[in-house]
Amino acid sequence: SLKCFSYLSLSLKECVGLRQMRKRPFFLEEIPQFTLPSIGLAVLGHPISHSISPVLHNAALSDLSLKDSAFKGWSYHRVDIKAENLANALVTFAEAGYLGLNLTIPHKVEALKSVDRLDSEASLIGAINTLCLRDGEWFGYNTDGYGLHQALCKDLGCEIPNSKILILGAGGAARAAAVKCLLEGASTVHIHNRSPERLHDLLSLLSNHFEHSRISGTTVSNFRKVEFIDQDWIVINATSLGLSEEDPSPFCMPCTELGKKSVVYDMIYNPAKTKLLAEADEAGLSFANGLSMLVYQAAKSLEIWTDQEVCAERMLEAAKNYFSGYYAS
Ligand code: NDP
Repeated sequence: SLKCFSYLSLSLKECVGLRQMRKRPFFLEEIPQFTLPSIGLAVLGHPISHSISPVLHNAALSDLSLKDSAFKGWSYHRVDIKAENLANALVTFAEAGYLGLNLTIPHKVEALKSVDRLDSEASLIGAINTLCLRDGEWFGYNTDGYGLHQALCKDLGCEIPNSKILILGAGGAARAAAVKCLLEGASTVHIHNRSPERLHDLLSLLSNHFEHSRISGTTVSNFRKVEFIDQDWIVINATSLGLSEEDPSPFCMPCTELGKKSVVYDMIYNPAKTKLLAEADEAGLSFANGLSMLVYQAAKSLEIWTDQEVCAERMLEAAKNYFSGYYAS
């Protein structure tokens, strides 16, 4: 029961201390309790120890505190929450003085059932990665699509209107990518996925909201290389293939056969250069990894919570420092 929770109530000084990333994430029964003017923010997931979101957010909060002392009492940390505990956890977080939450695996889709209000883009995507508490109600948003869009524009100089987008994968991240690219005016979004079931789910979701002529999809068995050879595509890896250094490339044709103005974006950022990105590099194509998407989606979440302009570059710098030599090249 809530009564046996060993909450610790935080002073402003302690909040600033909490901005250092703890080695171990919190569990729900040990989360700090915040009383105004201190405010809690957190990312919830299971597993969650890999998340570097506190590094990004706490760096940006330190910057905001310099401009406005109200943010001195804000801090962000990781909480390990299993899928079946999300609905109860949201009640506990609201009572414990949390204003903003990020959601990651396995909560993004399940959270749709637990929010009080839903932003229109999150509703189209069918997944939530950001929650904001207003007057006791949790509002759901999705900033992954925004993060990807910013990353493509800023890292790779992409112009989405009238572009051709090839998305590898049909999971939650692919959904956000597909919806955002269609909203931003891509002429074609082609989804390529291993399993036909998830591919068809995504294609039917997209064709409910966008013109059929702009959407297509394949699995390995019906992929037609001829439609990609010498054509300029924005290729986006939204599969988890690449997370391990031993993983093969998720793309079933060599990057050398794409048009020379094609670009390749891999949502994975650890490792910094996946096989897919190494192949893009060898083919002379522009490429980038998912760190920028992570940063821009985080900056947007923090803007929703604080109603302030957030310095994404400060978050990127903090992430690169955290990985230190890893991102040097
Ligand atoms: P999901 O679990 O929802 O989807 C996983 C996708 O990967 C599915 O399309 C799945 O295909 C595919 N996949 C998994 N294993 C394989 C394999 N061995 N061969 C081929 N395809 C495979 O995950 P998410 O959509 O949430 O995340 C996808 C990736 O994007 C992850 O690597 C994640 O870390 C990254 N990501 C990065 C973000 C960023 O900010 N940079 C934000 C969000 C995600 P199938 O349907 O066949 O199972």
